[in-house]
This record gives sequence, structure tokens and C-alpha cells, in this order.
Amino acid sequence: MTSEIQKKGKLIVIAGPSGVGKGTLVSELMKKMPELYLSISATTRAARPHENEGEHYFFLNEDDFLELAMNGGMLEYFEVYGDWKGTPKAPIEDNLDAGKSVLLEVDVQGAMKIKELYPQAFLIFVKAPSEEIQRRRLLEREDPTMTEAILEKRLTAAAKEEKVVPHFSALVINDDLGRALSELTSIVKDFISKG
Ligand code: ADP
Repeated sequence: MTSEIQKKGKLIVIAGPSGVGKGTLVSELMKKMPELYLSISATTRAARPHENEGEHYFFLNEDDFLELAMNGGMLEYFEVYGDWKGTPKAPIEDNLDAGKSVLLEVDVQGAMKIKELYPQAFLIFVKAPSEEIQRRRLLEREDPTMTEAILEKRLTAAAKEEKVVPHFSALVINDDLGRALSELTSIVKDFISKG
């Protein structure tokens, strides 16, 4: 007779300031590691061009978002730049229980909250090579809501957010996309293959 212990999946969190290239790296990483479950965030902000419901985000109105959050349905949620954003809990728990590793892309505050709830989570901080490059990336991104004031606010926030880097398990500088992606991929594969 054999007894099988169901192994839980691992939780990998990718975080960093706005515009450092998290979304780009995560979608490329998913192409290389389709065996991961990519958590989809919920948000009350308007969809950007080319963003699809249930693929990039669950776009919820404020009432539905807050109802789910108040009923314990979000791992973390908060108001950011006037909109709500959060991480629906059920799909993450279901995949971890089924032994599937989960990839989560959140902002820095979200990552710290996840670490409180899941101390075994592996946190990866993504950083732009310089503030100037980050500014350029934020401006180049197709985002109709971006204004000079928001841009400055995000860059100031980014400088503050970098102070939490020591709480993270790994740091990836997103300089050249191909280079950063292979570094990120080997960090994630190493973590998953460990125990
Ligand atoms: P985040 O998700 O961290 O806010 P995005 O993934 O949306 O950042 O990237 C911001 C912008 O920078 C996008 O226009 C993206 O195409 C571009 N970008 C991302 N990584 C790189 C890179 N390594 N080199 C040049 N441009 C990049």
C-alpha cells in the first residue's frame, strides 16, 4: 500500500515600482513556464487599450470589488491612484492545493502583505536600470491616464519602494529584456526545484 502526500505548489511573487517592466517580464516568463498558474488581479480602474477582461485583470465596479474584499475574498487589496486593486484569493489557494506553483504580480505594498500571509512565498523585486529609463518606459507605455503629475508621483513612490528590497528573496534589474528574462527564469526554476 502506498500513501501519497499531496505536495503544495509554490508561491512566487514578482513586485516592483510602476513602469519597471514587471508585466512585460511576467508575460514572457509565462511563455517559458506555462506550467505556472498566473494569478489575475482585480481592479476598478478602466481597462487600457488591448487589456481584456479575465486575461489581464478582472475589471470590477467598486461595489462588487468591495463586497468581495469585505467577505475575505482578496489576499490583499488597497486603493491606488484613486482606484481599488486586489488579488482574488480562491484561484491562488485552489492552485496551490492542487500542487501547481503560482506566479503573482503585485506592487511592493502587496508583496509585503503576501509575505505576511505566506512566509514561505518567494519575493522577487524588479528594478529599472535608472530613474531616467523608468521615466521613459512609463511615458512610452500606451496609457491614456498618464499625466505629468502622475508620472512624478510614480517616480517618487518608486524611490521609496526600493527601500524594501532587503525584505525580498531576489532582485532583478530589467536592463536588457532578454538578459533580465533569462535571469528571472533561472531564479524561478531554482526556487521551484528546491525541495
Ligand atoms: P510595469 O508592469 O512594471 O508597470 P510594463 O511591463 O508595463 O511595466 O513596462 C513599462 C514599459 O516599458 C512598456 O512599454 C514595456 O514595453 C517597456 N519595457 C519593459 N521592459 C523593457 C526593457 N527591458 N527594455 C525596454 N523597454 C522595456
